[in-house]
Amino acid sequence: MPYARKKQHRGDTHLKKGWRTKRRKKDLDEIDEDLKANTEKLLNQEVDFERPGAAQHYCIHCARYFINETALHSHFNTKVHKRRLKALELEPYSIEESERAASKGSYVAPQKRKIETITRENSNKKDTDAGPKAKAIKIDE
Ligand SMILES: [Zn+2]
Repeated sequence: MPYARKKQHRGDTHLKKGWRTKRRKKDLDEIDEDLKANTEKLLNQEVDFERPGAAQHYCIHCARYFINETALHSHFNTKVHKRRLKALELEPYSIEESERAASKGSYVAPQKRKIETITRENSNKKDTDAGPKAKAIKIDE
């Protein structure tokens, strides 16, 4: 006998993925908070052996851990990461915006921002560039 059951929801997996909580990542607005407030803390996390790479290689934008520096840097060049930077460009939806849309005050459309990959190296660089110590002279022996 042929298999009679009609498959009503064949190929629905991409829809179901949105509802899954097992591998749930941070939402974009949460990541936006991280980018504003605690980049330093997330880049220099404590050693946690439960996390991949003991939580030492973290991409803030994607809220993902990587096993080593190479994996992290190759991730920066991937489509997933670039797409994420693009998604973060637009300001997150806020209560203020919804109020503005509901004619409380004048409506201002969400702004586009320039998002750049934050790594441990370039976040440190910003700090040292401000000080006079940045101009270290290399002496060849
Ligand atoms: Zn990333």
